[in-house]
Order: sequence, then structure tokens, then C-alpha cells
Amino acid sequence: MRIIQAMAKHQEGWIGVDLDGTLAHYDGWKGSEHIGDPVPGMLFRVKKWLAEGRRVKIFTARASDPVAVKAIKAWLVEQDIGGLEVTNVKDYAMIELWDDRAVQVVENTGMSIEQFIKNGGKL
Ligand SMILES: [Mg+2]
Repeated sequence: MRIIQAMAKHQEGWIGVDLDGTLAHYDGWKGSEHIGDPVPGMLFRVKKWLAEGRRVKIFTARASDPVAVKAIKAWLVEQDIGGLEVTNVKDYAMIELWDDRAVQVVENTGMSIEQFIKNGGKL
């Protein structure tokens, strides 16, 4: 049952992808209209997801700045992934978040995945 639910979520949900340091190279703030070069491995992954029909949104703090959003949208077109939604809003349909600052926890434990692995997979 859990697998079926996960598959259903997979079909309907969207994947959040952070911009700075995740999809775009980041080495310090250079203004709201400056976006670094694409990170090839992440860009490839996003293109693969889109080819599979999965929904992707750019999930970035920059979404609160209209000038930055315009620059991001132009940058996405340059990377051949134009048209993706740019947001900083999480909702119930977000199934994954890829972000260089995120720390994943083991559900309902307060334990990070890193701690869990170091602990030999024991809670
Ligand atoms: Mg980031």
C-alpha cells in the first residue's frame, strides 16, 4: 500500500530544485540579476525528470524579488528548461526538495540521515 501511495505521489507531485549552489554555481552574492553557470550534473537530472514528464519547480529565496525572477526565467530559457515555475512556497504536492542547505532527517525521529548512516542504520 505504501509503495502504491508513493507511486501516486510521484505522478502528481512536484520536485523543488534550489537555484544557487544546487542548479547554478554559486560563489557569493553578485546581485539579483546575476546567476552562475549551470551545474551540469544537476541540469542533466532536471532535464531527465522533465523528459519523464515529472513536474519541477525552481525553489529559491530569490522568488520574492521580481527582478530576480525575471533573470531566473531568462536563465532557464538559456539552459533549455524555460517555463518552469519559480517559487519560494512549499505546498502539499512537493514530494522532494533538492537544496545544498537542506539537512534530511529520518521521518519522526529528529535524527539526520548523516547521523543515521554513521549509526549503522540504527535509530
Ligand atoms: Mg542554495
